[in-house]
Amino acid sequence: MTDPTTNPTGITSGTAGNALGVHALVWVSGWDRRQCRHAVAATARSGFDLLEVPLLDPAQVDADMTAGVLAEHGVTPTCSLGLAFDTDISSEDGDTVTRGVNLLLDAVQVAGDIGSRYVGGPIYSAMDKYRRPATAAGRANAVAALRTVAAAAHERDVTLGLEPVNRYESNLVNTAEQALDLIADVGADNVVVHLDSYHMHIEQADMAGPVRRCAAEGRLGYVHVGESHRGHLGTGSLDLPGLFRALAEVGYAGPIVFESFSSAVVSPAFASALAVWRDLWTDSDDLVRAAHAYMTAHLHAARTVRRDHT
Ligand code: MN
Repeated sequence: MTDPTTNPTGITSGTAGNALGVHALVWVSGWDRRQCRHAVAATARSGFDLLEVPLLDPAQVDADMTAGVLAEHGVTPTCSLGLAFDTDISSEDGDTVTRGVNLLLDAVQVAGDIGSRYVGGPIYSAMDKYRRPATAAGRANAVAALRTVAAAAHERDVTLGLEPVNRYESNLVNTAEQALDLIADVGADNVVVHLDSYHMHIEQADMAGPVRRCAAEGRLGYVHVGESHRGHLGTGSLDLPGLFRALAEVGYAGPIVFESFSSAVVSPAFASALAVWRDLWTDSDDLVRAAHAYMTAHLHAARTVRRDHT
């Protein structure tokens, strides 16, 4: 059914085309019962198929409650997280790596329990500003750690996504090429590249090259669409039409998820971790409605160009 070169996670939409999603932090800053109900209901109302649930602290997520609310609204979950310096699996300190592996194993467990078949993000190093380059020994620790986590994820039918992030948020994987190299060294089938336009804009030459290279290796598994300033789609300087054309060109059939952060919604701790210093928007409903319209229109245009001109 699923073409492994274009949709390795196997996550599909209830309707035709890619599963379109939204990151939960556009709606809420945490995940108690009220926040979960609000995020899931708002996602269903906005027309998106899928909700990306942050698992920064998996122990705080009530899996049974979450699974129930998702089922009630027919929303598909995916999960994401980043590591901190004290859970950095690319550290040279064994205790730090062990804490990171345990956190990722907990995340895989909770993801499986809420019905998510995906755990992605910058899960190979701390999501923070490093003051020195990655080391060979640290990278080897990350490879070994990801091998362990990938094996546990396989048991739960979960795919791991490595999201290259910009140089200010990791020193290990800033590009799709580095993610592909790391994946080759991990050597597990259930690890994919998770591209994010916001980070690609900073680190890659263009939008199409990374999409083509990851798809050619059968590893393009997940896509975040975020603007250059992480606010409203289409109001920044990114070549988002180019991204959608590249996705259509390679026949990408996997999830495409809108990501945006504003200090109006996210917690002070998360805002500081991601350098969200401004409220780029204050109305989540307005933001997400516009994002869904933008993504739908550009995907349609990209597919039309593909059909009529190639
Ligand atoms: Mn992202």
